[in-house]
Amino acid sequence: MATVVKSYEPTFRDKLYIPALFQGLMLTFKHMFKKKVTIQYPDEKHVPPEGYRGLHRLNKYPDGRIRCVACEMCAAACPAHCIHIVPEPSPWEEGKERYPVRFDIDLLRCIFCGFCEMACPEKAIELTEIYDFADYSREGLWIDKAGLLEIYELTKTQNYYTVPNDE
Ligand code: SF4
Ligand code: SF4
Repeated sequence: MATVVKSYEPTFRDKLYIPALFQGLMLTFKHMFKKKVTIQYPDEKHVPPEGYRGLHRLNKYPDGRIRCVACEMCAAACPAHCIHIVPEPSPWEEGKERYPVRFDIDLLRCIFCGFCEMACPEKAIELTEIYDFADYSREGLWIDKAGLLEIYELTKTQNYYTVPNDE
């Protein structure tokens, strides 16, 4: 059976409007003296809580070599299938045998779960706390190897792993 909703009948007090006006003003005044939660972005930036997972970066060794060995463990662990790697033999004589000639992540598909960094045996991929990225096209939200290394250069003074990545 259908429910009949009665139309609202204003009371005498409602019709005076003044009490409702004062009630609204009281609420406004109450909040005027509370701690403000609004920030003036982009002049002020929100600092995400520890452990926040944002934009990825590809880490390097102190000598400038990329840590990634193109093993594709991150791509295999990724539930969104948004990591695409093209491996090639490493150009360096010592050290790792392979490196990624291409490393692309589709940020629109990524769910920022962090599985890629958990799966990485080389601590090569790491999620930073950068959250403010946007573009006008879908293609613009693919980040490539150059972009991931650029993010590393921007954030290299910070370690987002619980264990420092030089250990
Ligand atoms: S954060 Fe998750 S969804 Fe995004 S690339 Fe890594 S594993 Fe894939
Ligand atoms: S980022 Fe890590 S898991 Fe992914 S291919 Fe490179 S070394 Fe392997």
